[in-house]
Amino acid sequence: MKNYRIATIPGDGIGKEVIPAARTVLESIAAQQNAFSLEFEDFDWGGDYHRKHGVMMPENGLDALRQKDAILFGSAGDPDIPDHITLWGLRLKICQGFDQYANIRPTRILPGIDAPLKRCRPQDLDWVIVRENSEGEYSGVGGRVHQGHPIEAATDVSVMTRVGVERILRFAFKLAQSRPRRQLTVITKSNAQRHAMVMWDEIATEIAREFPDVTWDKELVDAATARMVNRPASLDTIAATNLHADILSDLAAALAGSLGIAPTGNIDPERRYPSMFEPIHGSAFDIMGKGLANPVGSFWSAVLMLEHLGEPAAAAHLMQAIEHVTANPALHTGDLGGTAKTAEVTRAVCEFLASAQPPVA
Ligand code: NAD
Ligand code: MN
Repeated sequence: MKNYRIATIPGDGIGKEVIPAARTVLESIAAQQNAFSLEFEDFDWGGDYHRKHGVMMPENGLDALRQKDAILFGSAGDPDIPDHITLWGLRLKICQGFDQYANIRPTRILPGIDAPLKRCRPQDLDWVIVRENSEGEYSGVGGRVHQGHPIEAATDVSVMTRVGVERILRFAFKLAQSRPRRQLTVITKSNAQRHAMVMWDEIATEIAREFPDVTWDKELVDAATARMVNRPASLDTIAATNLHADILSDLAAALAGSLGIAPTGNIDPERRYPSMFEPIHGSAFDIMGKGLANPVGSFWSAVLMLEHLGEPAAAAHLMQAIEHVTANPALHTGDLGGTAKTAEVTRAVCEFLASAQPPVA
C-alpha cells in the first residue's frame, strides 16, 4: 500500500480551523479507499511562531518539507504583523524555495451555490486559471531609498524571464489540451506594459505552435474582467502573470459564489519538490476562532492534492462528497448565507464518504 507523507501548515487565523478539518476528511477518505495511507506531520509556523522566534518559520524549515509528498497550507496573515512579512516569510518562501511555478485555480459553481451572476448557469462557468507563480510583478526586485524625506523613492520591478514565461505558458497549453474544450485565453497588458508583456505575447505565439489542437486567444486584463462577468462561457483555461492572475482569481472566486470555496495548487510540474495546496482565502480575522469558517476551499484543495499524488479515484470521491454537501443549504456556512459551522460541514463530508459508493475512476 502506498504511503504519502503530507505536511500540514495551518498558519494563522481560520487556517487553524480549516486545515485540521481537511486533515480529518483526508483521513476519512484514506480509511475508506483502503488503497493508500497518509502520514501527516504538522508544522506550527506563522504568526504565533513569529511572536516566539521573530521569524515565520525556521531558517532550515524547507529541509523539513523537502521529503514530503505534498504540503497542505492554511493562511499566512496576522493582525499584529505586517502582511508583507507574513506573506514573504512563510508562503512565498515555500513557493519560491520549491520553485512551485504553476499556480492553478479551478473555478466552478458547485451544486446548491447561489452565484451572483444573473444569467450565468453553472455549466457556463467552468474555468481553470493558471497563474505564473515564481517571478513577474512579485519577483521581489526593487528598493526604497530616502525614507521619510521629500525625495523618497520606491520601486517594485516586474521581472520576466524567457525560461519563466515559456514554462508557465507551456504548462497552461498542456492543461488546456487535457480539458474537453481545449481552449486557452492568454491574459496580457502589452498595450501599456511595452517590454515584458510584449515578450509574454511573443512567447505565447511561439508555444501555441506546439499545440495545434488548442484554440487560443489573447485578452487584455482589464477587458478580461468584463468578459468574465458578461461572457463567462467564452472562457475555459486562462493563463496570466502573477499579479494579473492574483486579481482575476479573486473575481473568479466571487463569481462562483464565495471566497470560502475556492481552492488552489502551487505546483512544481517537474516534481523536483513537494507541491503545496491551499484555499485561496486568507486568515479571515473577522470570523477566526469561532468555528464559522467554510472548510470547502480546503477540502477542494485536498482534492487537487489527491489528483497531484496520482489518486484520481479518491479525488473524485471527495469531490462528490463536497458537492453533496454544498447542494444542501442546511450545510452552508455564513459566507454562503447559512448558519452551519465548520465542524458540521466536516462531519457531513465524512458521513457521505463513509456511506456512498466511490465513483468509478
Ligand atoms: P480573507 O480571505 O482573510 O477575508 C476576506 C473576507 O472573506 C472576510 O470577510 C472573511 O470572513 C471572508 N472569508 C474568507 N474565507 C472564508 C471562509 N473560509 N469562510 C467564511 N468566510 C470567509 O482576506 P483579507 O481580509 O484580505 O486578509 C486577511 C489576512 O489574510 C491578511 O493578513 C492577508 O494578508 C492574509 N491573506 C493570506 C492569504 C494566504 O495566505 N494565501 C490569502 C489572502 C489573504
Ligand atoms: Mn490573492
